[in-house]
Parts: sequence; C-alpha cells; structure tokens
Amino acid sequence: MKFADLHLHTNFSDGTFTPEELVFQAQKAGLACIAVTDHDSVEACARVAAACASVKMEFIPGAELTAEYDDTELHLLGYFLDTHNEKLLTEIARFQVVRQSRIHEMVARINELGTPLQVESVFALANCKSPGRPHVARAMVKAGFVKNLDEAFERFLKKGRPAWVPKSKISALEAIELVHQAGGLAVMAHPGLNRTDNIIPALVAAGMDGIECFHTKHSTAMSERYLEIADKHHLLVTGGSDCHGFSKGKPLIGTVRLPYEHVERMKERINRRIAASAAGR
Ligand code: AMP
Ligand code: ZN
Ligand code: FE
Ligand code: FE
Repeated sequence: MKFADLHLHTNFSDGTFTPEELVFQAQKAGLACIAVTDHDSVEACARVAAACASVKMEFIPGAELTAEYDDTELHLLGYFLDTHNEKLLTEIARFQVVRQSRIHEMVARINELGTPLQVESVFALANCKSPGRPHVARAMVKAGFVKNLDEAFERFLKKGRPAWVPKSKISALEAIELVHQAGGLAVMAHPGLNRTDNIIPALVAAGMDGIECFHTKHSTAMSERYLEIADKHHLLVTGGSDCHGFSKGKPLIGTVRLPYEHVERMKERINRRIAASAAGR
C-alpha cells in the first residue's frame, strides 16, 4: 500500500529541514508522496520538487495560510498550487511583511519585560522570508534566556502571554478564493486544534474542498469525528504529520500516513474542475 504525508514544513518557514533533507527523511519513512506546506510561503517547492524527482517520489506543491473567520484563527492548506501564480505570490509577499514586522513587535515586548533578546539574532536564525514564533523561541533558547521552546511559548509567546502579538490575517473566504484562482484545493488544517467545527459549514458553502482529518495532534476519536464531517459535506480527506524537523530526537515525517487513495480523490477533484472550466469557455 502507498502512503502520503501532506503536511510538512521546511526551513523556508519554521521547519528545520532543508528541502533536500526533508525528501531524504521522506524516503527513509517509505512515503510515496509528500506535500510541502510552509507557512505563507511556496519558496521551498522548486527544490523539494527537484529532490523528489531524483528519487521518483510524488510531490504536491502547497502552502499553509493563516486565515480567520468570525475572529477565529484557522490554518488553510492549499494543494496543487501553481507556485508561479502572480496573485498568490503578491499576497504571500504581503503576509511575509506582516510576519517580519510582528517579529519586531514581539521582540520589543520581550525587551520591555527585561529580556535583552536581539531582533537581529531572530532574523539570523530564521534566515527566511516567513519567520514566526518558533524562530523567536529558538533564538531565546540559543541565547540562554529560556531552557527550552516550551518555556518560551508558555512564558512569552502563547496566545494571551505578554509577548504574543496578534497578526492581521486574510479572511478565510478570501484565502479559499486565493487558493482556487491559483489552481489549488483549499483544505482546513488540523480542525481539532483550532476548535473550528462551527465554521465548517460556512467554509464548505464558500467552496472549501477538504479537511485534514489525520494530524499528529488529533486523537483517534477526533479523526473519526472529522471523517464523519467530511463524509456529510462531501469533503476531501487529507492528513499529515505537520513535521517541523526532529521532535524528541526523531523526525515526525511519516508518523501520520495518509492512504494514497485520498490523493487520488484530490487529483480527481482538480481534474473535474479543469474539465468544467474548459467546458465553460
Ligand atoms: P506563528 O505562525 O508565528 O503564529 O507560529 C505558529 C507556529 O508555532 C505553529 O505552526 C507551531 O509550529 C508553533 N507553535 C505554536 N504553539 C506552540 C507551542 N505551544 N509550543 C511550540 N510550538 C508552538
Ligand atoms: Zn509551524
Ligand atoms: Fe498549522
Ligand atoms: Fe503546519
């Protein structure tokens, strides 16, 4: 049987693996297909595609967009994106500027709280256009201000903690449209983490294509619940490990294994959409 892992980060956002390291780990995990879903970035896709081609692994270009609906934050995964789509790239560039200025704001707050973290150290460590809170946390560990990432999040960075800064986000309806106009499928990431069940019907009405039923932080009961919801709304079922590199000494990639038949269904949906738009022309 073939398996896919459709939720993976590289060092072009807050993952620690380079594109080539990610594909090496995917091979070790015995995966037939992977998707890269960096936060607000598609920059790694070209290198991951090349590395996948060299080992005959299937690759799906993707991204994870931070969006909101009715004041609820949600993460929207885009799959089979045209990574050269002009509007997508323009919007992503805007999200990245927001992320960069948010780093300045978070570090300023950390400084006000008496911890002299240098913003340059965060940007140097992040070394990408799409920095996030994990980079701040890692820079704090590196400088010896906290013992580990958990402490950085618990004391400073978690929602509601003193250095947490909200970021302005694209509306979920616009994010779905952005993904669609870039030729992609729009999928709600880890619904069990964001408590977003109540907004699923509205997003389905707006054309959302699927939900991520299988995720590292979903219990078996949660996955079953989302499989039922997917069935009820005729949604695609996706899944992935949300690997950001090594976790407790092991790579997370491949720990969530999506049966390949779900990838087939995703491709069928894309092909139906292409056929429908060709017929409409
Ligand atoms: P950001 O996009 O800057 O808001 O950062 C979100 C990312 O931070 C998530 O994708 C996770 O990788 C990570 N993250 C969020 N909460 C925690 C936490 N409590 N501990 C460790 N990492 C976290
Ligand atoms: Zn992340
Ligand atoms: Fe996420
Ligand atoms: Fe993620």
